[in-house]
Amino acid sequence: MNSSALRQTILIEPTFEAWREAVRPLLSAGISPEFIDLADTESGATESLFATEPPASTGSGSQVHVPRSYIERATVVACHRDAARWNLLYRLLFRLQSDRNLLKLDIDDDVAEFRRLEHQVKRDLHKMHAFVRFRKIETDAGEHFVAWYEPAHRVLELAASFFAERFAVMQWTIMTPDASVHWDPSEKQLAFASGVAREHAPKTDDFEDLWRTYYSSIFNPARTNMNAMRSEMPVRYWKNLPELHTLPKLLTEAEGRVETMISRQPKLTAASFVPGDHSLPVLQEAIHACQGCELYRCATQPVFGRGPARARLMFIGEQPGDEEDRAGEPFIGPAGRLLDTLLSEADIDRSSTYVTNAVKHFKFTERGKRRIHENPRTSEIFACRPWLVAEIEAVQPEIVVCLGATASKSLFGSNFGLMRERGKVLASPYAERVIATLHPSAILRATDPERADQMRSMLLSDLNLASASLSLRS
Ligand code: SF4
Repeated sequence: MNSSALRQTILIEPTFEAWREAVRPLLSAGISPEFIDLADTESGATESLFATEPPASTGSGSQVHVPRSYIERATVVACHRDAARWNLLYRLLFRLQSDRNLLKLDIDDDVAEFRRLEHQVKRDLHKMHAFVRFRKIETDAGEHFVAWYEPAHRVLELAASFFAERFAVMQWTIMTPDASVHWDPSEKQLAFASGVAREHAPKTDDFEDLWRTYYSSIFNPARTNMNAMRSEMPVRYWKNLPELHTLPKLLTEAEGRVETMISRQPKLTAASFVPGDHSLPVLQEAIHACQGCELYRCATQPVFGRGPARARLMFIGEQPGDEEDRAGEPFIGPAGRLLDTLLSEADIDRSSTYVTNAVKHFKFTERGKRRIHENPRTSEIFACRPWLVAEIEAVQPEIVVCLGATASKSLFGSNFGLMRERGKVLASPYAERVIATLHPSAILRATDPERADQMRSMLLSDLNLASASLSLRS
């Protein structure tokens, strides 16, 4: 059957709800995306019904499965202006019916595109939060604060709750070319209306203080980065921003404000996700639900430790890398291969050891198609610590070897000096003996061959120490 002859064009009002209404019956009937073209109402396309008989159903009658994580992310992607987004969303939703783990498959073209659009919309949302500027106008009903802003994507609805929270007691309106939103403090609700052209926004800056106050309230001193500010808003626009008068004062106060912000921040921890039963199979199952920090959001899966449940020797690395993240196994990438070589030189059989990481999800930044390792923050290391402690309690190793600063900090606290303490047998409540040493990836990253050789010797010598310690006891 020729699918193009049967292809149906459906016009979608540019909202996620409209798309959802349109695809619900299609999905229930199991209609394959190849028979459907979902186009924006404003695209100029003409709606068409199936020319001949409807396409064969591929899943009619079966229960439709729509993961919540997909809905949350699709709501964001729907705000993108890319005309192909509706078809992409339906294709993914259709494919999710037979492959529930599809969204974890980074190498899939649809999933990669989904992530790209999501990233761009989130970035635009962030810009809108930062750069909307209100002006005061007097009305019969009193003061009214108005802003006109042109986002790259249709993010007004996503952004509105942020402003409602910030300016809960004021009457304000944000207009964009697509839509407007109005907040009435007495009603305590957002009302959406159609968009307006720029010329309808007030032109006089008769009350810039509000903007200054607002800027002070959202200014995040922990992230003051002039390069980032330049990239968000080109310098040529800076002179028009009243908040720049405020900036020097804010920068002076930044240090104190960082401390206050840190003390107010909810503490990240995996503690409530770690079950009371610390047996390895139970922990390994439970860790998939962990949301103890933000790292679960982008990684493919948590990577739990591997090895015998009663291993005498445990290695703790930093976090999974790209290969480990995809495969769900620790130390199988380049650093793992180097560790294998060094273990065999130190006469340690890796299969008799338990190998894990201090942080269980892969942290990275995307550069094109590549995922580049990023160091976990101290807060993320300590958030993940309950899993590590539970693993140690389950395995009860005689010797723990911390590979690198992250693992060492996780067990000994953030002031631990790796180069000062490496090569010693340390006392710890977690195991009879703990040895801290370098991470193999530090050797792989060294650009100076001489330095790399030195580091390799240090790591090998520490592994020999662990090996000798084990032999003494056996
Ligand atoms: S990194 Fe650790 S604490 Fe954070 S989500 Fe993953 S398992 Fe949980």
